[in-house]
Amino acid sequence: MSSDFTFETYADLLEAGLAAGYEFLTVREYVDTATEQLPERFIILRHDVDRKPENSLEMARLEAEYDVPSTYYFRTIDKTFQPEMLRTIEQLGHEIGYHYEDMDRADGDVEAAHDSFAEELARVREHSTVDTVCMHGNPLSAHDNRDMWVNGDETRVEQDAFAEYDLLGEAYLSMDFEDVTYFSDTGRTWRDGSLKIKDHTMGEGDKRIQVDSTDELIELLHEGRVSRLCILTHPNRWARTRRELVVESAKDYAINIAKRGINAVA
Ligand SMILES: [Zn+2]
Repeated sequence: MSSDFTFETYADLLEAGLAAGYEFLTVREYVDTATEQLPERFIILRHDVDRKPENSLEMARLEAEYDVPSTYYFRTIDKTFQPEMLRTIEQLGHEIGYHYEDMDRADGDVEAAHDSFAEELARVREHSTVDTVCMHGNPLSAHDNRDMWVNGDETRVEQDAFAEYDLLGEAYLSMDFEDVTYFSDTGRTWRDGSLKIKDHTMGEGDKRIQVDSTDELIELLHEGRVSRLCILTHPNRWARTRRELVVESAKDYAINIAKRGINAVA
């Protein structure tokens, strides 16, 4: 088994970015900076905290050791939402955001989704500053959580809607993916494809560069071939130990089979 998707490899990725001279921006900094003011080369590290939040805490500590800021989006389900951890990660210098799934919760009722969103956002804000949010993509649900903002028209995002919640933006919808190349570990591969049922950006042009392994992504940073990147990782999928790697890979294997089943009928 390959030893990719371990904390060791993740540290190598951070080192590569630093060595190649990239600046690290949080999502808040990115959306709050005028386009012409953005640094020439930067990396936005985005994390979706779906489950096993203790992995996120450890990853946040690892990044802090390198003095690299990143952004953690927390789901508010019981097993994931740990207020103390939010505070600790924020104190380590990272941004905290809300990983929302309110269209799923409201079963597609937009108005009810907004009610739920307001409540959950307020819960997260009791413990940390929240300026940006990011949708959670549940492959087994019929809804796309972003639909509460776009009113069925993918090309027209209601940026005003974010301001109503005192938010600066949304990690998928407020980022220019023509300019920023998006890499995601969904499905424990960096390659885009059928395993990324909902983890795709909207209005994205065809991506010209694909990588399979984290080593290839590291190589890309060393070569400086891509100047602006957004890298999404799910810390629960990254193994702190070799044993954890075996267990997590087995889980991913089962989930990927289920997703292939969904694609087959879609
Ligand atoms: Zn998620």
